[in-house]
Amino acid sequence: QRIGVPREIFPLEKRVAAVPDTVEKLIKLGFQVAIESGAGDAAHFSDDAYRAVGADIIDSAAALWAGSDIVLKVRPPHGEEVALLRQGGTLISFIWPAQHPELMAQLTAKQATVLAIDCLPRTLSRAQKMDALTSTAGVSGYRAVIEAANAFGRYFNGQITAAGKVPPAKVFIAGAGVAGLAAIGTAANLGAIVRANDTRAEVADQVKSLGGEFVKVDYEEDGAGGGGYAKVMSEGFQAAQRAMYAQQAKDADIIITTALIPGKPAPKLITAEMVQSMKPGSVIVDMAAEQGGNCELTVPDQAVVRHGVTIIGYTDLPSRLAKQSSTLYATNLLRLTEELCKAKDGVAVVNMEDEAIRGLTVIKDGAVTWPAPPLKAA
Ligand code: NAD
Repeated sequence: QRIGVPREIFPLEKRVAAVPDTVEKLIKLGFQVAIESGAGDAAHFSDDAYRAVGADIIDSAAALWAGSDIVLKVRPPHGEEVALLRQGGTLISFIWPAQHPELMAQLTAKQATVLAIDCLPRTLSRAQKMDALTSTAGVSGYRAVIEAANAFGRYFNGQITAAGKVPPAKVFIAGAGVAGLAAIGTAANLGAIVRANDTRAEVADQVKSLGGEFVKVDYEEDGAGGGGYAKVMSEGFQAAQRAMYAQQAKDADIIITTALIPGKPAPKLITAEMVQSMKPGSVIVDMAAEQGGNCELTVPDQAVVRHGVTIIGYTDLPSRLAKQSSTLYATNLLRLTEELCKAKDGVAVVNMEDEAIRGLTVIKDGAVTWPAPPLKAA
């Protein structure tokens, strides 16, 4: 079979779904691989680098899509891209089916088979090597700290110099999931004092092991919902959490927010008043900007200054580290393709008996197979 990798057309998107290293391995699995000319340019992978490992470089998007049995992508396809997908073709990409009913209908009409990498059952340990949500969130958490450091007018680490004593920066992280933990580790490595909070008490040890201090909300309620994710908290908890965040905001130089609740708008944790109480020159990076933001004053895709505080709402953090995020994403897709091609004969088989594959298959031969049934107890 032929695997095709188009150039991403979403604004600000710089990633690519295959890199030369993974293309080489896909070819060893028996596939032919075609790359749209320029697909890797923004992530610093040239056409020549793909050609050198045996890929065909195709000039037009239309020819690339038409010639591919399997298309590997990053962003959910736009309508004009779906139109190019071969009738009965296979697509592997981020899809977010709950947010994109129209896309699901278009793909169904194409009799497509669609593997949504965002629907991978993350609690299966066998599936971790394919977990693109985790690799992407890790890159974003790292980059959020780099963006904060870039906008902040001081060192992160404390220093004693001939010119005087410099105190370490204080960083507060709201939400300690995958992205938050990556931010904690990065900020601690730069030498900052790091504190973090999450509604799921189980993350406290992970925060500590990365060099952060876990700050508890003074209210007895655990935030663990289903599948390792968070739930919406009670009014009482939210009031107690606001009081604690108001204290942290006054003290922190940098706040990085990552709090999300599946299927709900991002919880508003940082009020305008808290921003006003921060020291001039402080920085907030709101990683939830695309889902409505954790801070009341966030403007998606922009860095704005409010009350002397820089508030960064970039929604393209993975593309701001495009080479790294592409390499990790492409490796996740390679691992998935290996699972689909155990015979190493260049033919992908979507085995619906396999729980990991079943979970992420959202359309099979034109029939919607999403949402998948719950996992059998491990
Ligand atoms: P996410 O992006 O949905 O949420 C980010 C974090 O925000 C979560 O830790 C959540 O608890 C927190 N949060 C939500 N509301 C909050 C609030 N009001 N105040 C403070 N924090 C709030 O989550 P994610 O990072 O994608 O993953 C969540 C968890 O899923 C992981 O931390 C992990 O435990 C689990 N997970 C498990 C596996 C596995 O078992 N193999 C793999 C990946 C993730």
